[in-house]
Amino acid sequence: MPWILRCKNCGKIRKLYVGYDLSEEKQIYVYCAKCRKNTFHEILKYEDDAEAE
Ligand SMILES: [Zn+2]
Repeated sequence: MPWILRCKNCGKIRKLYVGYDLSEEKQIYVYCAKCRKNTFHEILKYEDDAEAE
């Protein structure tokens, strides 16, 4: 199950599948498909299967 991240640059929500705990991180530097580059992402929550959109 994925973590839900929001790009701090453009605001796009994305999911990130990782096998480790991000809950102690405030942000993570990963690729954003909209910005087409690595950006800082805010860690919103751990997805519990409820698909919002
Ligand atoms: Zn972005």
